[in-house]
Amino acid sequence: MISRILAQLSAWRSHTTSSARLLVGLVAIVGVGTLAAIVFLMHASLSAIAEKTDQIDMMRGHELVQAALVSAIAQMSETTTDNAIWDDAADQLYRETFDDTWLHQIWGAGSSGTKPYDGAFILDETYALLWGRYLGQPESDVRRLGSGLNTLIAAHHRDIEAGRTVASGFTMTTHGPAIVSIGLIRPLNGPETPQETPQGTPQGTPQGTHPETMRRYLVMTQHITPQRLANQARIFGVKDLAFRPIGETTPPYLILKDAGGQPVTQLTWTPELSGAITAGAARSRVEQVSWLTGALVLIFIAVTAFSMRKLARSENEARTFAMTDGLSGLPNRRALFDLLSDSRRTKRGRKSVVFIDLDGFKDVNDIYGHNTGDKLIMIVAAALKGFLPAKAMLARMGGDEFAMLIGGAEGPAKAQAFAEAALAFLGAPIRIGDITVQIGASIGIADADLKARTSQELLRRADMAMYHSKASGKGRITHYDAELDAARHRKQAIEKDMRAGLARGEFDVVYQPIVDTWTHRTTSVEALVRWPRRPDGPLAPDQFIDIAESSGLIHPLGQFVLRRACSDLRDRPDLRLSVNISPAQFRDPLFEHKVSDVLKETGFPVERLELEVTEGYLIENPDRAIAAVRNLKALGVSLALDDFGTGYASVGYLRRFQFDRIKIDRSLAGRIDTDRQAAALVVGTVSIAHALEIAITAEGVETAEQAKLLRLAGCHSLQGFYFGRPQALASVIETFCEPVGIVNSQAS
Ligand code: C2E
Ligand code: CA
Ligand code: CA
Repeated sequence: MISRILAQLSAWRSHTTSSARLLVGLVAIVGVGTLAAIVFLMHASLSAIAEKTDQIDMMRGHELVQAALVSAIAQMSETTTDNAIWDDAADQLYRETFDDTWLHQIWGAGSSGTKPYDGAFILDETYALLWGRYLGQPESDVRRLGSGLNTLIAAHHRDIEAGRTVASGFTMTTHGPAIVSIGLIRPLNGPETPQETPQGTPQGTPQGTHPETMRRYLVMTQHITPQRLANQARIFGVKDLAFRPIGETTPPYLILKDAGGQPVTQLTWTPELSGAITAGAARSRVEQVSWLTGALVLIFIAVTAFSMRKLARSENEARTFAMTDGLSGLPNRRALFDLLSDSRRTKRGRKSVVFIDLDGFKDVNDIYGHNTGDKLIMIVAAALKGFLPAKAMLARMGGDEFAMLIGGAEGPAKAQAFAEAALAFLGAPIRIGDITVQIGASIGIADADLKARTSQELLRRADMAMYHSKASGKGRITHYDAELDAARHRKQAIEKDMRAGLARGEFDVVYQPIVDTWTHRTTSVEALVRWPRRPDGPLAPDQFIDIAESSGLIHPLGQFVLRRACSDLRDRPDLRLSVNISPAQFRDPLFEHKVSDVLKETGFPVERLELEVTEGYLIENPDRAIAAVRNLKALGVSLALDDFGTGYASVGYLRRFQFDRIKIDRSLAGRIDTDRQAAALVVGTVSIAHALEIAITAEGVETAEQAKLLRLAGCHSLQGFYFGRPQALASVIETFCEPVGIVNSQAS
C-alpha cells in the first residue's frame, strides 16, 4: 500500500530529489573548484619561487662575473703600479736616451708570456710612444691598442698626469679584448712628479729641457685570452664564461665597455639556476598539502551529499506523511489536489472524478462511538480500494468523504462502474465486529478536459453532483450537468431573498380549516406560511421550505409562524392550532425552550397547540427525536405525524413516539374514491390508529364523496379544499365558524 502511495507521489518526489541533487552538484562544483584553485595557487607559488630564485641566481652570476672582471682590472692596475712607481724605472726613463737593453730586460721579456702582462709601452708627456714591446715584438704603433687607451687617458688624464692614479680599462686591440693600464713612472719615495724634485732628478737628465712638463708613462696590456677567462671563471665559480659578439641579447651577458663607455666585447656564461631545485624541494610538500586538501574536499562533498540525501529522504517521508490520511492509509485531499494540478501541468487531458459522501456516518459515530466510526472508515476504504480500476487514485477527502480520480477516454465508464459498486456496497448492511450498521452513500460524478477546465472546477462539479444526490433523497448517483449549477444559483438567490424578506416582513400565515367528520364544523386550523410580498412574485412553500431548511433560515421562519399563529389564535378558544415543524427545527436542542417561550410570550394555551412533524427525522435520529417528543409532551403540546403513508412509518413508530394524531397524506386520502389500494391502506391505517387510540385526520379532501368515504373509514377529522382553502384567519372565522359568542350560548 505504501508503495502505491509512493508511486502516486512520485511526480512530486522527483522534484525534491532533483533539487537535492542540484545542491549536491553545486557543492561538488564549489569543492572541486576550491581544490583546483588551491592546487593552482600552490603551483603558481612554486613557479614564483623558482622564478625568483632563478632571478637571484642570475643576479649573483652577474655579480660574480663583474667581480672577476674587477679583480682582473685590479690585478692589472697593481702590476702597472708595481712597474711604474719604482726608483730604477724613474731613474732610467727621465733621460734623453733610454737604455734599450735595460728596458728590454725589465719589460721586454714580460711580453713573451711569463709575466702578468703581454705588452709594455713608454709614452712621453704628449702620450706619444717612446718605446714599446708588444706580444714579444718591438712595437712602434700605439694605435694597435685600440681606442680603449685613448678613452682611458681622456677620462683620467689629470690624475694620471699628477701621478695620483694608475688607470685601467678595457680595450679592443688588433689582437683581441684586453685590459690596458696607464700610470706615471716615478720614484717610490719621492715627490709625486719627478720634475718637481730637483734632488730626485736622476743624474744625466738633461736639465732645462721642459723639466717641469716632462712625463714618462708606462702603459701595460694584458689580453683576456680564453685561457685567462677560464682561469678567472674557475676562481669565481662562473660556469662556461666566454666571449660573444655584441648584439646577442640572450641572458646572461655582460658588456665590457671602455673608459668612454663604448662597448668592447661581451661575456656570457651558463647561469647556475637553482630555482628548479628549490621548487623541486618544495614540490613534494605542496603535493602533500594538495592531496590532503583534496581528501578534505572529497570528504566534505561526501558528507554534504550524504546529509542532503538524508534530508531529502526525511523530507520525502514528511511529505508522504502529510499526503497520507492516517486512518485509512489512503492519499488525502492534498495528495489528490497535487496529483490533479500535476496532470493539468502535464496536460493529461480528460479526467473523471467520483465523490462519495457516506449517509448516516454521523449517527454511527454518535451511537456506537468514534472507535466504531473509525473502523467503519477503514472497512469502507478497503472495500472502495477493491473496486478501484487500474491507474485510478482513491483519496479520503476528510470525514466521511472519499474521491476517486481516473483519466483517459474510458474514465467516465469506469467512474460509473466504480460508483455503482460503491453505492451497492454502502447501501447494504455493513458488519463492524459484533455490530451491523446500515449506512448509505450520496455520490456525484463529474468529468472534464483539464485543458479546458481547472482541476478545482472539476472537483467542484463532482462535489456539486454529490451534494445534489444528498439533497434529493440520498443513496443515489448524480452526474454533474449545467442544470445543477443553475438550480444551485436559483437556490442561492431564493435564500438571499428569504433572508431579506424575513427582515422586511414579506411573510404571512394563512389557516386551513380542519373539520369534524360528522358535524363538518371547524374544530381546528393548520397554519401554513405564505410569501405574498416577495419582490419577484409569490412563491409556494414547496419552493422555499427546503431551501429554508438547508440554509438554517427555517429557524427564524418557523419561529415567526409559530409566534404569529399563537397570537392570531389566542382569543379563539374554540379552535385548536396545528403548526408544521421541520426536521431541522426538531434537531435544534433548544427547540422545546423556544416553543415554551412563544407560548409564554403570546399567552397561547398549550393544550390547544398541536405540532406536525414528518417521519423522516424520526428515522434519521431516533434518540434525539424521542427526547424532543418527551419534552414537548411534558410541556403539554400534542404531536401529529404528518404526511402518513408517504414513507416507511410503521406501527412501531407510532407506539414508540406516542403521537396524538396521524394525518393521512393526501396522496392516500385524496384517492380513496378512485384507488382501491389507497382505500384499503386508509382503512388499515385507521384501524391501527384506533387500536392505538390515536386520532386520525385525512388531508386533501376535495369532494363530498371523499369526505363520506373517509368518514365511513373511521377518520375523526377532515381537511381539504372541499372544506376550505388556506386563507386569512378572519375569512376562516367568517366563513366556517359561528361567532364565538353563539357557540358559547348554544353550549350553555
Ligand atoms: P402539508 O403540511 O401537508 O400542508 C398541507 C398542504 O396541502 C398545503 O399546501 C395545503 O394548501 C395543501 N392542501 C390542503 N388541502 C388540499 C386539497 O384538498 N387538495 C390539494 N391538492 N392540496 C391541499 P401548502 O400550503 O402549499 O404547503 C405545502 C407544504 O409546505 C406543507 O405540507 C408543509 O409541509 C410545508 N409548510 C407549509 N407551511 C409551513 C410552515 O409554516 N412550516 C413548515 N415547517 N412547513 C410548512
Ligand atoms: Ca401539515
Ligand atoms: Ca400533510
